[in-house]
Amino acid sequence: NGNLTNAEALRKDMVRDGAIFQSNSDTEVILHLLARAPAGSLEEQIQYALRQVQGAYSLVILTRTALYAIRDAHGFRPLTIGRLGGAWLVASETCAMDLMEAKIEREVEPGEIVVIDDTGLRSIRAFAPAEHLQCVFEYVYFARPDSVLWGRNVHTVRKALGRQLAREHPVTADIVIPVPDSGTSAALGFSEEAAIPYELGLIRNHYVGRTFIEPKQGIRHFGVKVKLNPVREMLEGRRVVVVDDSIVRGTTSRKIVRMIRGAGATEVHVRISSPPIHWPCYYGIDTPTRKELIAASHDVEEIRRYLAADSLGYLSLDGMLKATGSDPANFCHACFTGGYKVGIGPEPDQQLPLFG
Ligand code: SF4
Repeated sequence: NGNLTNAEALRKDMVRDGAIFQSNSDTEVILHLLARAPAGSLEEQIQYALRQVQGAYSLVILTRTALYAIRDAHGFRPLTIGRLGGAWLVASETCAMDLMEAKIEREVEPGEIVVIDDTGLRSIRAFAPAEHLQCVFEYVYFARPDSVLWGRNVHTVRKALGRQLAREHPVTADIVIPVPDSGTSAALGFSEEAAIPYELGLIRNHYVGRTFIEPKQGIRHFGVKVKLNPVREMLEGRRVVVVDDSIVRGTTSRKIVRMIRGAGATEVHVRISSPPIHWPCYYGIDTPTRKELIAASHDVEEIRRYLAADSLGYLSLDGMLKATGSDPANFCHACFTGGYKVGIGPEPDQQLPLFG
């Protein structure tokens, strides 16, 4: 889980030296580094390999005799250890432990290598302590709401994001609806804080893929209609607040506003439970390039006009970090601020955020 920011450079060096890669996965770079490590124990070889990579990774390596669970020194992505009878489990999110009816033991710490073998569990601190950069977007969108992440339940954090959003961008309206499922928890928080009834104004069809990852414009536009259907009885003649977690390209949000208005809403107020996304993520969240991000080239008023919404309000950076309930200094928020703290690659479109 995650993305290595210097994988391409390492790969080119090794290919020049004769390495043959079987895939485009950055994880294979780690395997090649392991294969080239000086003779020693596997633990030493893992440390040798990982000292050369940069970026975000939560990694599990399984050998015949041991299981290694490793988080990068910044702790971008989560990694959790569980126990089921005599067995140990490792997963990105705690919801997987619930599924297995396992007991959640603890998280793998940033920079920690956990070794699990016949003798039990051991911890190795192989890397110099580094600034913690937990991905705040895990709380906003990526993690499952039933998971416990960095000590807090994700749904609870999302409700807090929605509450903060209601305080920052109050509006007079008849109902609050989520864009399901991504906006559900934040909309609940918004509704409670604003004392505006929560309703289901859009129903999600669970049988179609997520529009976020469909590459072609045409398919994506069609995808919104297949994915969401308005509940006319709830929307007709009403002033509607619609809450979502983020706006990426803006095309989906625009369709949704049109859909809600088409079902008879008299006003549509869009509220977003994170700040505008100005920059791509290079640490493992699949965002598009900068030129496709609507907030990279448009201010909030321009986006509101593009969406054809009556009003648009984004949660502030400070408000978002405060709502996590954790120390704001522990989070990465580079996609909102451009403050990439771990080196990003040399490709032309990847240099843009550094010098933009
Ligand atoms: S850039 Fe954004 S999405 Fe990527 S790790 Fe940082 S906070 Fe998460």
